[in-house]
Amino acid sequence: MRLLVDAQVTRGSFALDVSFAVEAGETVALLGPNGAGKSTVLRVLAGLLALDGGRIEVVGEGGGVTLWDEPASDTFVPPERRGIGVVFQDYALFPNLSVLENVAFGLRARGIRASSARATALGLLDRVGLGERAHNRPDQLSGGQAQRVALARALAVEPSVLLLDEPLAALDALTRAEVRSDLRRQLAAFPGVRLIVTHDPVDAYALADRVVVLEQGSVAQTGTLDEVTMHPRSRYVADLVGLNLLAGEMRAGVLHLPNGTQVVAADSALSGPAFVAVTPQSVALHRREPEGSARNVWSGTVTDLDRRADRVRVRVTGTVPLVAEITPAALIALDLAVGQTVWISVKATEIIGYPA
Ligand code: ADP
Ligand code: MG
Repeated sequence: MRLLVDAQVTRGSFALDVSFAVEAGETVALLGPNGAGKSTVLRVLAGLLALDGGRIEVVGEGGGVTLWDEPASDTFVPPERRGIGVVFQDYALFPNLSVLENVAFGLRARGIRASSARATALGLLDRVGLGERAHNRPDQLSGGQAQRVALARALAVEPSVLLLDEPLAALDALTRAEVRSDLRRQLAAFPGVRLIVTHDPVDAYALADRVVVLEQGSVAQTGTLDEVTMHPRSRYVADLVGLNLLAGEMRAGVLHLPNGTQVVAADSALSGPAFVAVTPQSVALHRREPEGSARNVWSGTVTDLDRRADRVRVRVTGTVPLVAEITPAALIALDLAVGQTVWISVKATEIIGYPA
């Protein structure tokens, strides 16, 4: 089965307009900065917010289509009839119910007998390793345990679509790493559609097969992680993966930037609007104008030095703003400081364009 989303919705001054699909058996991460509209997408899918335009539909194995929401045909399926399990950002456990009652809640709401609902809930708690916590209250749990209870509660109703909003954001760094690998196993065991919302690329890397990058209410890019990281299509994605992104018009092997600067590329086959991703390791720095064969040479000003364990990222602002990555030894040899003028060079063989 697959979930097909074509959603337009307005919330105050914020407009969301996205299209994407998720197949059963794959985990898709909706990745983007705060305020991009990720939780809005999740609320729309969960049936907590109605669409203004577009449609949400589920296509079953046999090809049968179930419409969840389509304003044009006045269709709206309420949350409890969508076959979804939701893990909210703050887990939203009922504080006055025991862990067991929390997990059994959805089953009871569907009219399942108490004894049977409790047995199912206990089985699910065992599966997430929390059988012994069944009679605790949510406030007696650690963050990681609360996350697992929320997941068990979402799975209890045997959903075909599992939605998780920032499932790890509430946890401290140490717990997060542990819960992340546990969540990865739990997700892999769920056969339906899996969609997680996150602003953390590390979570997306660890948990998702594919990402849908959301920025300002629109899909900026979608693809496998490799595709997205190798060929970023927005400044946000390039920054996430630590690449420089240049955008311009490619003509006869030269990328023309909007400010008129020409960047010589490796191959001349591509023409038209194009991007170039430049790895910081391929940007060379010089104190004096370099001589020799590099044709892409520009001067600029050092505006930031970011010292990491075994490398230094140097931000140079100028005609072609770029981040260079050098070794600590090179930093000393070049005697660089913020405010200094430097020359940067990039070999044409490092400039590989792809269509915009
Ligand atoms: P994200 O989850 O990516 O951080 P959200 O979907 O929560 O983003 O929010 C997207 C935008 O929608 C934000 O700009 C926010 O101000 C706006 N928004 C969220 N909830 C409401 C609301 N209840 N009413 C009006 N605007 C809202
Ligand atoms: Mg959110």
